[in-house]
Amino acid sequence: MADPVLLTPGPLTTSMTVKQAMLKDWGSRDKAFIAMNARVREGLVELAGGQGTHVCVPLQGSGTFVVEAMLGTFVPKTGKLLIIINGAYGKRMARMCDVMGRRYVVSETAEDTPPNPQAIAALLAGDKEITHVAVVHCETTSGILNPVAEIAAVVAKSGRKLLIDAMSAFGAIELDARQVTFDAVAASSNKCIEGAPGLGFCIARQSALEACAGNAHALSLDLYDQWVNMEKTKQWRFTPPTHVLAAFDQALTEHKAEGGVAGRGGRYRRNCRVLVDGMRALGFETLLPDSLQAPIIITFRMPADPNFHFETFYDKLSAAGYVIYPGKLTVADSFRVGCIGRLDESHMKGALAAIRKALDEMKVNALKPAA
Ligand SMILES: *Cc1c(COP(=O)(O)O)cnc(C)c1O
Repeated sequence: MADPVLLTPGPLTTSMTVKQAMLKDWGSRDKAFIAMNARVREGLVELAGGQGTHVCVPLQGSGTFVVEAMLGTFVPKTGKLLIIINGAYGKRMARMCDVMGRRYVVSETAEDTPPNPQAIAALLAGDKEITHVAVVHCETTSGILNPVAEIAAVVAKSGRKLLIDAMSAFGAIELDARQVTFDAVAASSNKCIEGAPGLGFCIARQSALEACAGNAHALSLDLYDQWVNMEKTKQWRFTPPTHVLAAFDQALTEHKAEGGVAGRGGRYRRNCRVLVDGMRALGFETLLPDSLQAPIIITFRMPADPNFHFETFYDKLSAAGYVIYPGKLTVADSFRVGCIGRLDESHMKGALAAIRKALDEMKVNALKPAA
């Protein structure tokens, strides 16, 4: 049977060539592996516009590991973090600070509401102890695009340091270090770069990273130590995810061939348009207005029709080869459909046809959400 079409925020559908790149065993001290590692790191710095100012530190694990590593490495034990929250990933950063013992305050808005840069500026003016600010670029909980450039300007103006969780945006939504001031950005192999899951990376301002010796709360999550060792030995501390790195190298080649961030983002925007227009034509409502929606994952309100049973809907789509994602919201009952991964408009149209068929079979007529 063919692989399912993953309409999720990761792991994602990958190309055959990315999958095939994993069919080889690598010695981690082999010259070819070392060259591949250097190529991947350089490619990622370039993608972030950080040539000459920023460095890339890769880390074993899923995306959460590198976010936790970023917070622990950059925020010193004497520091204080302002965490901007409008979804589960912002909340997760607060939990990380609880666990690792970093002082923090939060600025929280509802999941369908972007943070207000003026409010952040006021908070920073009122609390001189804050040293760092953390924000999520695309909050995957709802799919909302947060105004990272405006927040970066406010943070830089106040003399504080910005840490960005750009996990679900990196590679598809512009984030250029020459235009947006940040000390560190965290992302992973298995989202918009369309690699396999298993490694994260941090793009860090070199001068900021150099000042991070001794900050980290955990040896394996110490990005400073990982960086210093990689610079010195050209190798990873601890076993690298060799096959995943090879797939990531191939994924980066394909990203470049598609036209980089503009090309990748363009395909996702077309996917998003087809999906949202098609779902609205059926009668579904999106949580977010188009002006706040990132072309990554779309939240749809759960229809109030008693015939609409989400588990049945999910199972019918899954049987047809389309995997969607449950909602994770507190503001509204919902489900999510992703538009990232090696998918194009034909996949979106296929998903819409499967959705129409599932609704017919369930005898769902009214798609209006509960008031
Ligand atoms: C996916 C994601 C993460 C990391 O999730 P993992 O499941 O650990 O890979 C972190 N932040 C955001 C915004 C994400 O979308």
